[in-house]
Amino acid sequence: MFNSLSDRLTATFKNLRGKGRLSEADIDATVREIRRALLDADVAVSVVRAFTASIKERALGLEVSQALNPGQQIVKIVNEELVGILGGETRRIRLAKNPPTVIMLAGLQGAGKTTLAGKLSTWLKGQGHSPLLVACDLQRPNAVRQLQVNGERAGVPVFAPHPGVSSEFEAATGDPVAVARQGVAEARARLHDVVIVDTAGRLGVDAELMQQAADIRAAISPDEVLFVIDAMIGQDAVTTALAFSEGVDFTGVVLTKLDGDARGGAALSVASVTGKPVMFASTGEGLKDFELFHPDRMASRILD
Ligand code: GDP
Repeated sequence: MFNSLSDRLTATFKNLRGKGRLSEADIDATVREIRRALLDADVAVSVVRAFTASIKERALGLEVSQALNPGQQIVKIVNEELVGILGGETRRIRLAKNPPTVIMLAGLQGAGKTTLAGKLSTWLKGQGHSPLLVACDLQRPNAVRQLQVNGERAGVPVFAPHPGVSSEFEAATGDPVAVARQGVAEARARLHDVVIVDTAGRLGVDAELMQQAADIRAAISPDEVLFVIDAMIGQDAVTTALAFSEGVDFTGVVLTKLDGDARGGAALSVASVTGKPVMFASTGEGLKDFELFHPDRMASRILD
């Protein structure tokens, strides 16, 4: 992911090497190249516009520096601006003062939510937490089973609504809002300090399911609502993210499939257009292919 963007930006900066001073024409040419590279990588137009305007303004105002040549100064500016669009500081999960910490997952079908539930549980377990998974995706017949499989792989119990299936707990109802509420109560009663609530995926932004997710959110007052988005989805990322931001007011973003070779730029736009930070990155199908997202490290990787 981002290989082509990374190559393009590196090539642009190479042209500045050895220049003692940058003329306005040099800066214009550089900003133009950066704009093209970002647009070709699928970064949203509004984000590219703000990003390049800021780079141009800062580049024109550059003071002569003893320590860095102009090319290095531009790289530094682009790096800082990239960190900015990716959400700035590393944002960690907010743990509830009174456990359990409630984390709700939302996103399109196929985004990687169920897989994430297993990964996040594994990661939290590694940090000494004791998570419970709650299966509220009652739309797809197989979704509950899939969460149970992921729970089993992660060694984490799953609170599931259908009686008779092999889950550690059985809920009595098929109403996702009630299941979410019961799941959180179950976590509290069984002293799980984190509860991860999976919600229904959908093929596109769907008003009824968005309302269902909003109702679940209202019923369980989560500490975090994570919007899970496939980094390969392309330009649709921005409209989808905005719809979920409005519908469920998520608190953080999880980018999945960063191991793919798509251009990925749309995913880079999500934090910027929604004003919500990217918190985690998913980089494969394995339980451990998952990491805390550090905007500064991602920016450095892109500019490497
Ligand atoms: P959900 O519908 O949102 O629950 O999505 P799933 O968790 O079922 O994931 C959909 C598909 O994407 C599955 O085949 C996963 O194995 C795969 N997947 C999930 N996350 C990643 C990732 O980070 N990288 C790759 N390569 N595949 C992933």
